[in-house]
Amino acid sequence: MRRVVVVGASAAGLTTAEALRRQGFDGLLTMIGDERHPPYDRPPLSKQILTGQWGPEHLRLRPESDIEALDLDLRLGVAAAGVDRARRTVALADGSTVSYDTLIIATGVRPRPFPGGRGIAGVHVLRTQEDAVALRDRLGSGRRLVIIGAGFVGTEVAAAARRRDVDVTLVESAAQPLARIIGRDAGRFLTGIHRERGVRILTGVRAAALDTADDAVSGVRLEDGRLLPADDVLVAIGSLPNTDWLRGSGLDMGDGLVCDAYSRCAPGVHAVGDVARWFNPLFGCEMRVEHRTTASEQGMALARNLLNPADAQPFAPVPYFWTDQYEMRVQAHGYLPGHAESAVLDGDLAQGRALIGYSRGRHLTGVLAIGMPFGAVRAWRTAVARRTEWAAAASLPAPA
Ligand SMILES: Cc1cc2nc3c(=O)[nH]c(=O)nc-3n(C[C@H](O)[C@H](O)[C@H](O)COP(=O)(O)OP(=O)(O)OC[C@H]3O[C@@H](n4cnc5c(N)ncnc54)[C@H](O)[C@@H]3O)c2cc1C
Repeated sequence: MRRVVVVGASAAGLTTAEALRRQGFDGLLTMIGDERHPPYDRPPLSKQILTGQWGPEHLRLRPESDIEALDLDLRLGVAAAGVDRARRTVALADGSTVSYDTLIIATGVRPRPFPGGRGIAGVHVLRTQEDAVALRDRLGSGRRLVIIGAGFVGTEVAAAARRRDVDVTLVESAAQPLARIIGRDAGRFLTGIHRERGVRILTGVRAAALDTADDAVSGVRLEDGRLLPADDVLVAIGSLPNTDWLRGSGLDMGDGLVCDAYSRCAPGVHAVGDVARWFNPLFGCEMRVEHRTTASEQGMALARNLLNPADAQPFAPVPYFWTDQYEMRVQAHGYLPGHAESAVLDGDLAQGRALIGYSRGRHLTGVLAIGMPFGAVRAWRTAVARRTEWAAAASLPAPA
């Protein structure tokens, strides 16, 4: 392995490059990123950037000197446009090509667009620094923001916007916001907090179209005919993996770039981070998660395996994510989507402090902690990692 090309210059791509260098890789290391910024962090985009606590300069993942020390062939502001696996080259949008013996794809995801919404002033998505600054600059007392989609991004933006006294309406097609992932109890609890803080939440109804006036959005028309007047609209209806540039490459793509437990998609081609759909042997299923910490862990695991092929270890983490909703931190360890059962295992939701467990098959497959200290949650993470029986989890003594 002498020529490594990493496509995607963000959390997963950077961590992989850093881990390769740290573990002694001294070959040519190219990193290609279509954004012109040096690698930056996305979780604060829906939190500190929108509330105005941080400026974009706080987002940098590493100081310039750390990036320089990696001795990268760093190509920012140019997209990878295709891959020729037979020749082992990546074509760039500027017409150049880069050859590799190992290709690492870390191109993340992009927001799913609302039909007809692109290019209308006042219609926002939230993935990049530019998106966050544009939305931040529109938030202010009394302005009307309609958020289509009450997932984690939608609800975090609602919380940040309420702190700035924005009039917020959340539109959610499901009967209960967030319930598909975190279950009905936790979903109801978080929805209640948003309502208490003055967010209007409309559930079980879809946004059908955007109304405009003077070339800007003026409202959201719902399928049931209601019109929600708006100065701004945030479209937060999920994401699409950035795999279009790989069309024709023969790589297996569906909802993400399919790879095995070693992040391998094909000989010499690997995927890490939000774009990767990999087989997680701990849970015995394929998963694609959009979690900041897991993206970095996957990059580190891949680097270790590439440099120690004889001792390669499958990437079998307990995924972790957090979300900040007002002053409350919610943390989740494990894999929650598609759970069969959920139950409060510790604390009490009514008191705003609870640990909820989730099962799939016979096992505890995830926990969600609301208002719990990090230390207390760690023990439950271990219980997930140990594949604790669901029946036993319910009677485990609460960790101190
Ligand atoms: C608003 C927001 C809030 C979030 N909050 C949380 C949170 O609280 N907790 C949590 O766990 N996670 C959170 N996340 C998710 C977390 O940010 C992601 O899991 C993480 O950024 C994934 O890193 P990545 O490197 O895989 O992908 P990305 O960060 O998406 O990086 C991929 C990079 O590749 C670039 N790229 C795409 N296509 C090409 C191409 N063809 N050529 C070159 N470059 C390309 C992209 O522009 C991007 O720069 C949040 C995400 C967002 C957007």
